[in-house]
Amino acid sequence: MSGRPGDERALLGMLDTGEGLSAHEQALLLAGAEGSASDIAVAELPLGVRDRRILRLRGLLFGASVNVQDTCPHCAEVMTCTLTLHQLNDVATPSAVPARVEADGWTVICRALTSADLTHALRASDRAEARLRLLTSCVVDAERDGLPVPTAQLPPPVAASVVEAVAEADPFAEIRLRLVCAQCGGSWDAVLDPARYVWCELAEWGRRLTENVHVLARAYGWREDDVLALPASRRAVYLGLVGDG
Ligand SMILES: [Zn+2]
Repeated sequence: MSGRPGDERALLGMLDTGEGLSAHEQALLLAGAEGSASDIAVAELPLGVRDRRILRLRGLLFGASVNVQDTCPHCAEVMTCTLTLHQLNDVATPSAVPARVEADGWTVICRALTSADLTHALRASDRAEARLRLLTSCVVDAERDGLPVPTAQLPPPVAASVVEAVAEADPFAEIRLRLVCAQCGGSWDAVLDPARYVWCELAEWGRRLTENVHVLARAYGWREDDVLALPASRRAVYLGLVGDG
């Protein structure tokens, strides 16, 4: 995306581009909209680092306060909790060094997964192949008793340890929030997907902006570009005047 993160036309363009794409592809668009990294560079970032970029974009666009809504699994009460991006960032910090698994003569060096790895896995013909692709992506080096071994030959317990080590190395790739129900006092872990959250928020913003353009275009005979060229504060004044009749 070109332009600064808050550029309304660029954001609307991104929403158009991402319409109908997978959540994974939308995440790449969002991460690419924060800063100047190329699409390829963003695809190569560990998932947790990508998601931090998405939350930084969110902070620039809508501020640091975040409302998370979830349904209590104990009593079905719908609960909203408000937290800040700072609190979310404190949930986990990705490790800068590759993870290392050592067990039963095996030594495996592994790295965090990236969006490019997910894309590669999603193109697999079945789930087993997808799993192997993910494992192969994150294994940098595997040895048994000092001899190199292909990733496909890792025994299941070692492969499971690798998956665990990768998750620990990039904890921000899955943000878990401990929520407590105000109604029944029960607690549970909710998973926050920054890309899904921010995309929904941005799509809602886009809908509201388009409605405002529609109202002003109809009232004054302006084109979309005319309306978007107005500073938001002046647009609000005109919307108020139209509303007052
Ligand atoms: Zn409850």
